[in-house]
Amino acid sequence: MYLILFGAPGVGKGTQAKRISQQLSIPQISTGDILREAVRQGTGLGKRAENFMKKGQLVPDHLILEMIKERISQSDCDHGFILDGFPRTIPQAQGLTKLMKTMVLPPFILVEITVPDEIIIKRLSGRKTCSQCGADYNDHTHPAPADNICTICGGKITRRSDDNPETIKKRLQVYREQTAPLKHFYEEQHQFISIDGNKHIDEVYKNLIEQIKPYIKHADIHAL
Ligand code: AMP
Repeated sequence: MYLILFGAPGVGKGTQAKRISQQLSIPQISTGDILREAVRQGTGLGKRAENFMKKGQLVPDHLILEMIKERISQSDCDHGFILDGFPRTIPQAQGLTKLMKTMVLPPFILVEITVPDEIIIKRLSGRKTCSQCGADYNDHTHPAPADNICTICGGKITRRSDDNPETIKKRLQVYREQTAPLKHFYEEQHQFISIDGNKHIDEVYKNLIEQIKPYIKHADIHAL
């Protein structure tokens, strides 16, 4: 199954992608995670991306497309994958269409997750993640322990540096201007599903699975 999770920062794409990934045994490909890891390791890509990320701007399309091409060519992607945070611009979507043709991939299912802006701002400003296992915490719904030590793996819980009020505003503006127009691009050519993300995580997941079920290969249905 080939899925694109689409929506503004903070709508829950990453959380839902992780769950689908575990259940269907297909990788979650988060361009944000790959970039953050590149920055952490100080690679060439990380050095070129860091400044854009700090300011809440998009990393240039050619760097992202190169990165995606390399990632989806790996063997764990042979039976599908979930794109989380990509594509984010029309040129990225066009680049992905070209790649899909070259790699003879079946059409994507596009899942849009929607959440009102004021809820997104609250969610992002309260968000924390375990730097070791990736477990999510949130000051408003699922607070981290006072010592910021992950209850699952004992790793250090941190806040993303771009989850500050000023950068959150910028990221939402960038989303509106550069990413939201992709909806029309995709609505015309792909299976398009829209999910209300302003509900409990479990309910969002249940709705999402119900809606993508008709497109899941018979062999994979047992996993749900
Ligand atoms: P995310 O974790 O998806 O919120 O992404 C964090 C940051 O990484 C974004 O604000 C961008 O600076 C950068 N980024 C992630 N994915 C992309 C993408 N597909 N295109 C351009 N920049 C991206």
